Amino acid sequence: MSKDNSTNVFQEVISHCKEYGFIFPSSEIYDGLGAVYDYGPYGVELKKNIQEYWWKSMVQLNESIVGLDAAIFMHPKTWKASGHVDAFMDPLIDNKDSKKRYRADVLIEDALAKMEDKIAKEAEKAQKKFGDAFDREKFLATNPNVLRVKEKLTTYESRFKKALEDNDLTEVKQIIIDLEIACELSGSKNWTDVRQFNLMFSTEVGSVAEEASTIYLRPETAQGIFVNFLQVQRTSRKKIPFGIAQVGKAFRNEIVARQFIFRTREFEQMEMQFFVRPGSEMEWYQHWKEQRMKWHRSLGFAEENLKFFDHLKLAHYANAAVDIQFNFPFGFKEIEGIHSRTDFDLKNHQELSGKKLQYFDPETNESYVPYVVETSVGLNRTFLAVMCNAYKNEKLEDGSERVVLSIPAFLSPIQIAVFPLVKKDGLPEKAQEIYDELKWDFRMFYEEKDSIGKRYRRQDALGTPYCITIDHDTLTDNMVTLRDRDTMQQERISIERLKEVVTQKVDWKKGLR
Ligand code: ATP
Repeated sequence: MSKDNSTNVFQEVISHCKEYGFIFPSSEIYDGLGAVYDYGPYGVELKKNIQEYWWKSMVQLNESIVGLDAAIFMHPKTWKASGHVDAFMDPLIDNKDSKKRYRADVLIEDALAKMEDKIAKEAEKAQKKFGDAFDREKFLATNPNVLRVKEKLTTYESRFKKALEDNDLTEVKQIIIDLEIACELSGSKNWTDVRQFNLMFSTEVGSVAEEASTIYLRPETAQGIFVNFLQVQRTSRKKIPFGIAQVGKAFRNEIVARQFIFRTREFEQMEMQFFVRPGSEMEWYQHWKEQRMKWHRSLGFAEENLKFFDHLKLAHYANAAVDIQFNFPFGFKEIEGIHSRTDFDLKNHQELSGKKLQYFDPETNESYVPYVVETSVGLNRTFLAVMCNAYKNEKLEDGSERVVLSIPAFLSPIQIAVFPLVKKDGLPEKAQEIYDELKWDFRMFYEEKDSIGKRYRRQDALGTPYCITIDHDTLTDNMVTLRDRDTMQQERISIERLKEVVTQKVDWKKGLR
């Protein structure tokens, strides 16, 4: 897909989300609040379904994982211990002419990604020229243009990695200058110095000013799990290795919130901390990498649209870290992080709180602070990936077009729409009867307005996998028409069999077995 085309697709997805009640800009009657969004009737269903699916696959299907719902507000010392007060920073840089603010690391990452694109394009061009005789590997290893870009890329990657590791902000700026990165608004290369910016939001608790104290909105849900680790372990009687899962809001004062719901200042995370014996963390890190990739595939994402990306710079708490990236219309970007967090968090909480956070291992007769492997996926980013993956503008055989959301049936906001063919002759009553019977098992929708064709199109655009139409014959033969969203095939089926047939089709377990 060309860049322009993918930009258009992304704009279409955003408009579609608004038009069909998935996502609205927040407080729009006051002209909105930048990068804040509300989820409409179908969006809230889809988001809830993704969350539930994650919960089922992590908690219900794993005997060794239990859940938790910790508060957003936590004791301020939590964030000192976790390192967020001192180290949760992003490097920012301003363009002096446009006054536009950027994340310095993202500017560089984007420039490096462009070099990778250039290499891929050279290969594509050559493929077209040489056809079947083309040997891609040989071309990439020998073509002088490719080798030049590759060398540049490697040099800048290692400079960037070192600058991040050394926290050398002067060098970060120098890389921006050397790469000749220009502001997208002003086109100028007139940059300020790079500065660090803490991403935590703070607020005050307490009604009387003198007694008020500063607390933070949590920037990640993980710390609620760490501080509760021993209580959860004791009360759930779990032995190591075991995990604690949690879903909840997190807040980050992102320098540049952008790309719709991809990066917002308020978002939801689905996190799981897996507590393991020290020394076994790499084994578990591998395990969770595989499991989580399998989960993303089960959302219907094609293999070529997912990839692992090893971190260039490890966060202050990690000894290994990888992202799972999804191919959004704006390129491959992180959707989930998998981190081996060592004993960093528990140890620091132990120190700062003065409370022991050790586990007595009955198998080795030892007490120790466990190591942690974390899986942390953004609910909103997963939502966006599901939407981008599902959105299709199809040309049909009869020359007409339709917009369809091929959302996996188990996640769709509505699973079955029930339509009486006409608004009379007892058809609405029969349709209502079927609706009332099926609503106990499925997410349902009822509509009698407009032509059947229009009603089908509307459900296609909402991602509803099945529509049931009740016609005059239904009253005598107890059969209805079941229409499939993706194939648009229609079959006659008896009312009695509806539940069984649809149950099979919306089964959430298939992708995980
Ligand atoms: P990024 O590099 O994109 O800022 P991160 O590496 O800081 O992300 P983590 O701290 O690993 O992100 O958080 C885990 C997950 O939480 C991310 O993979 C992403 O899905 C989600 N997430 C993080 N920040 C945001 C945000 N500002 N808006 C929406 N989702 C977010």
